[in-house]
Amino acid sequence: MKPKKRIALVAHDERKDDLLDWITRNAKVLRNHDLYATGTTGGLAAEKCGLDIHRLKSGPLGGDQQLGAMIADGKLDLLIFFWDPMAAQPHDVDVKALLRMSVLYNIPSACNRSTADFMISSPLFNAEYTPTLKDYGHYINRKL
Ligand code: PGA
Repeated sequence: MKPKKRIALVAHDERKDDLLDWITRNAKVLRNHDLYATGTTGGLAAEKCGLDIHRLKSGPLGGDQQLGAMIADGKLDLLIFFWDPMAAQPHDVDVKALLRMSVLYNIPSACNRSTADFMISSPLFNAEYTPTLKDYGHYINRKL
């Protein structure tokens, strides 16, 4: 992946304030990357932080699946997904599918704020990086 990352930002309703606060605090860095988000998260982040964000469909309406497809197509580098551990979602299966894609394709994924802090303060955040697909590469390459 290139130094300029393609980053997905997603938060479930009860986690949106936390993610928006994190985005606000890190807007200066995030501004230098290509940002994608599910509909509601992206709308709020654009409004609150003035960031230029590619908005996909809302999560329950297919946004998570769109992000999963982007990962499968090699079009997403990082996933920041504050999912709600205390509430079932109508689109739980989509959430699970997105998280599965992120593991399968070795996409750095932050599901809570501490991990997001570690991720954004990593020297790799703004550097060239090639994720290895050691564990699953055989399956992935076989299907290409
Ligand atoms: P939203 O979707 O940003 O449209 O609320 C988030 C999600 O539920 O995945």
